[in-house]
Amino acid sequence: MTFNFNSLDHAYFMSEALNEATQALQAGERPIGAVIVHNGQIIGRGQAQHKNNRNRLAHAELNALLSVANRLYEFDRGDAVIYTTVEPCEMCLGAIVMSDAVNHIVYALPDRWINTAPMFAMPHVQRHIYNYLGGVLEKDSADLWEKYSPRELSLIREGKLPE
Ligand SMILES: [Zn+2]
Repeated sequence: MTFNFNSLDHAYFMSEALNEATQALQAGERPIGAVIVHNGQIIGRGQAQHKNNRNRLAHAELNALLSVANRLYEFDRGDAVIYTTVEPCEMCLGAIVMSDAVNHIVYALPDRWINTAPMFAMPHVQRHIYNYLGGVLEKDSADLWEKYSPRELSLIREGKLPE
């Protein structure tokens, strides 16, 4: 089966990531969720678990990657996509790059606070990320953040706090 990024139902897979984010919110966490899709199937899931796990590194994307970590060697490069409800931070983008297996990123809400755009100037990042698509179901992600913290949503959207 030939992989075709553009034929994937991005809204469907993002809605699955949003389900993870909703569960995180219900658990008192930041509303961030992620799923990993391989050959059209969801094979990994993650959600933010910083507070409940007492682990500052327990980001949704990293948790999703770790949920399939021992299978990544089986993947042909370019066949896996990660869907995440917020643009990945530098740690998670780094982990996706270093997975050497998940080469497409789809996110909902752009993050102008962490703002990883400068990392895409790195040839190593460019080599590993084939598609980087934002804005898929952005409003649904923003609505979850509005419930969690309007202040943090403002930070994510504007890159600074309101005057
Ligand atoms: Zn992260």
